[in-house]
Amino acid sequence: MRLIFATNNKHKLSEIVEILGEKYKDFVFNMDDFDINLNPVEDGNTFLENANIKSTALYQVMREKRLLNNGDYIIADDTGLCIDFLDGAPGIHSARFMGEGVSQEEKNIKLLDIMKDVSDEKRKAHFITILSVLEVIDTEKCDYKIHIFDGIVNGYIARTIEKTGGFGYDPIFAVGDPVDIKNGRVMTYSNLGIKEKNKISHRAKAIHNFVLYLEKKHNI
Ligand code: IMP
Repeated sequence: MRLIFATNNKHKLSEIVEILGEKYKDFVFNMDDFDINLNPVEDGNTFLENANIKSTALYQVMREKRLLNNGDYIIADDTGLCIDFLDGAPGIHSARFMGEGVSQEEKNIKLLDIMKDVSDEKRKAHFITILSVLEVIDTEKCDYKIHIFDGIVNGYIARTIEKTGGFGYDPIFAVGDPVDIKNGRVMTYSNLGIKEKNKISHRAKAIHNFVLYLEKKHNI
């Protein structure tokens, strides 16, 4: 069994490896392991469509190069931050939010600026990960099955960037309830640190759902 992750994002990969833990470390592969550089256009209308675009794109390339074995899993993670006050934005546009040339730090600063007058109660947000897990049934017959797993964490947008660890929107997304702002207990993903984040994150929940499926199916 191989778990082949369809991502170029090193942060995501290292989180995934840590979330899966020792037990799965010899089963995890990524595109570098096969010298594949793939950046499919994520033009779907939903996280699910974008996740499927990524998993099937890698499947097609690996199948053409005859790199696949029956029983392999190709896994794509599509993730986004959805802010209630912005009607769910950045959502599926989390990567390209505010334009291609804008650094993540600028995005975080601008988002806090957009929300500077928004009350604590209205700062709710959630992170969502959709995993598209493509199970290779029969490479010769081009037979495969796609399974979907998800993970959601509710939280809110902090008022300041208190610590800049992690990646992406980690410095501004806080877990828990915005009432914590008043109580001085804001815990952004960055504040939590990578170890704690990996225990409770949207990605951890989605991966655990997938692992439950794997362990049941393969009697692991
Ligand atoms: P995608 O799933 O690669 O399309 O991710 C979209 C964007 O969401 C990325 O460019 C990151 O900025 C952000 N993102 C994804 N996962 C996380 C996370 O775990 N924490 C913070 N930001 C994330």
